[in-house]
Amino acid sequence: MQRTYIKDLKSHVDNEVLIKAWISVRRDQGKMFFFDFRDATGTVQGVVLPGSNAGEISNSLRTEWVVSVKGKVNKRPERNIKEGVLNGDIELEILEIEVLNKAETPVFDIGADTREINEETRLENRYLDLRSDRLQKNLRMRHKVSNFVRSKLDEQNFVEVETPIFTKSTPEGARDYVVPSRIYPGKFYALPQSPQQYKQLLMSGGIERYYQFARCMRDEDLRGDRQPEFTQLDMEMSFATEEEIMSVTENLLIEVVTKLYPEKKIQQIPFPRIPYKEAMEKYGNDRPDIRENKEDENLLAFCWVVDFPFFEKTSTSDNPQAEGEWTFTHNPFSLSKEEFVENLKERKNIGDIIAAQYDIVLNGYEIGGGSVRAHDPEILKNILGILGHSEEKIQSNFGHMLKALGSGTPPHGGIAWGFDRLMMILQNEPNIREVIAFPKTREGRDPMMDSPSEISGAQMDELSIKILKKDK
Ligand code: ASP
Repeated sequence: MQRTYIKDLKSHVDNEVLIKAWISVRRDQGKMFFFDFRDATGTVQGVVLPGSNAGEISNSLRTEWVVSVKGKVNKRPERNIKEGVLNGDIELEILEIEVLNKAETPVFDIGADTREINEETRLENRYLDLRSDRLQKNLRMRHKVSNFVRSKLDEQNFVEVETPIFTKSTPEGARDYVVPSRIYPGKFYALPQSPQQYKQLLMSGGIERYYQFARCMRDEDLRGDRQPEFTQLDMEMSFATEEEIMSVTENLLIEVVTKLYPEKKIQQIPFPRIPYKEAMEKYGNDRPDIRENKEDENLLAFCWVVDFPFFEKTSTSDNPQAEGEWTFTHNPFSLSKEEFVENLKERKNIGDIIAAQYDIVLNGYEIGGGSVRAHDPEILKNILGILGHSEEKIQSNFGHMLKALGSGTPPHGGIAWGFDRLMMILQNEPNIREVIAFPKTREGRDPMMDSPSEISGAQMDELSIKILKKDK
């Protein structure tokens, strides 16, 4: 007999079916047993009637055991119908039960809200946590959103291209995670903080419209909505203006919400645009929460923040008042707004230069950002010069970018969405760990796999690595 998914049982009334499922609940009522069975598609109530062959085995069954059940789908009597619940109007009359696997008693109740449970315990037993209704929904909606985005971008001639994980440090402003090379002792790969250089090199490579659900790794101090690795929806477009890139993003976000979250309301379309200066003056930050009603969890207030300064002065550590060197506010590969290109070329009035940079903000969270890029190698060289790189450093660190830009690279620009953050907000979750299958703890550990962990002496020798004991 073929397996029937629990969501499809209602079309098998009066027929015999076979389901494969977990036992969510078992109730022993003396003469009868009631079960709630759960598979990836839903839940159904089963009943073992007095005198049934399944009576004996039902005694030994426990929650979270995995079973194969033969039964007959019956309509429930009118008085037992549960309105608005999947399979609320049917019941499975159990004829036979086979145990496919037993289960230890779960360390926490996965039928309850697992957000209440100690984080360490949850993450150590993440496979159990993932069985909970909420995490099931989060992961399935995450899949639906990424699937939808893929199909929409495909319709618009975007091509998904994978870029390397073993790469060289990209200057995104965070610390790199590094991987030692065995073949080249003393040398390291860096894990990408984003595919920034590769996506631009794909524009040099004639791809024209690129996207990727890309893993990014940044060794930063962890916060509620940060993880050492996270996912970006990364995009780049050749021949596109700032307006076009913003409109692709805006339309896609609107479509995601209207198609997959019809219960949610977007506060304002087109998304309002707030200059950086105004955001700082009015809201005190560059990711303003402009919701008219913060009580309504279905209100989505998107806005763009634009007109960012390209450069800012770093403060020197021993004297924060003293003016330091110039650093970039977002991305060293950006272009300025057109009217400031001369300033870049002549390296003058640097503090006044406004970048062709746009951030997308949702309910007070920055959920994405991007820019039009400098496609003229001379301009990029000037930017890197302003940032204090010597001619020699520019050649050794960015020579490949300058060469590629000089090889016939079209004007281009792009954006990256913080996909975890977007999903967190859409799913009404308080932090991104709830929408990631296997996140790290707040302290950057994985208690289930026990990582990070030590490696053997032999592995270290092979990598020519020695650990210096640090006095703390
Ligand atoms: N690479 C940038 C980031 O990760 C996004 C972009 O400019 O496209 O923030």
